[in-house]
Amino acid sequence: MRRASYHNHTRFSDGADSPADFLRQALPQGIDILGFSDHYYRRQADDRDVPDWALAPDAEEAYFDTLAALAAEAPIEIRVGLEFDWLEGSAAWLAAPARDPRLDYAIGSVHFLGDQTLDTDRAFWQRLSQDEVDETHRAYWRAVRDMASSGLFDIAGHLDLIKKFAFYPKSDLTPLIREALDAVKAAGMVVELNTSGWAKDCRECYPSEAILRACFAREIPVTVSADAHRASLATANFPRAYDLLARVGYRALTRFRGRERFTEPLEP
Ligand SMILES: [Zn+2]
Ligand SMILES: [Zn+2]
Repeated sequence: MRRASYHNHTRFSDGADSPADFLRQALPQGIDILGFSDHYYRRQADDRDVPDWALAPDAEEAYFDTLAALAAEAPIEIRVGLEFDWLEGSAAWLAAPARDPRLDYAIGSVHFLGDQTLDTDRAFWQRLSQDEVDETHRAYWRAVRDMASSGLFDIAGHLDLIKKFAFYPKSDLTPLIREALDAVKAAGMVVELNTSGWAKDCRECYPSEAILRACFAREIPVTVSADAHRASLATANFPRAYDLLARVGYRALTRFRGRERFTEPLEP
């Protein structure tokens, strides 16, 4: 089986390594298809005031040019993506960049509710009451549903990221998660098994096995990613991910090329 790694961050956003470093370190990791997905965060159309962990507006051309040059000389396949930050109402200004023909795929991710990041600040979670934890989870799953319903993205990024710091709801969120998965299915999106969660407080991949089973039941296709912020982690826990997907019932992984998709057999 060819090994693909699509969700990786370089120094163009908040990664530690350059695209060339990734390529160099991808080869000994057995990667056959290496994709990049730096953060794309805009609060409005023509937002020039972008946080330093996201691709800067004046670096966009360099991002595409650098990856095109890398692809031309690389001995393996290079793929170009972006990880788009879903914000309420952002479909209006993300539509154009998400359809950029230079992209092989677009990842849609929810990291924010309003101005609040959900995955960078443990102290935020510690301040919440249990009721507020529950309400934050509910708002998160509604945002995931809306992100999917926008129809702009190919891949649903780290679907249940909300569990990262291991603050869980007491109430049953199954109906909301179901709604979000139905939206992912209706939009024809792919779900990534994101291995980075195994190293976080939640000690689980994103999404959980239970949600992966719900995806499988809906025939939602999958890919495997590490969400690596350094090249050495580009295939972190991949064998474990392949084994889990096989156990859930998956027999194929989705590949991306020029916004087209195809599958290759999953052979753990
Ligand atoms: Zn993310
Ligand atoms: Zn990411």
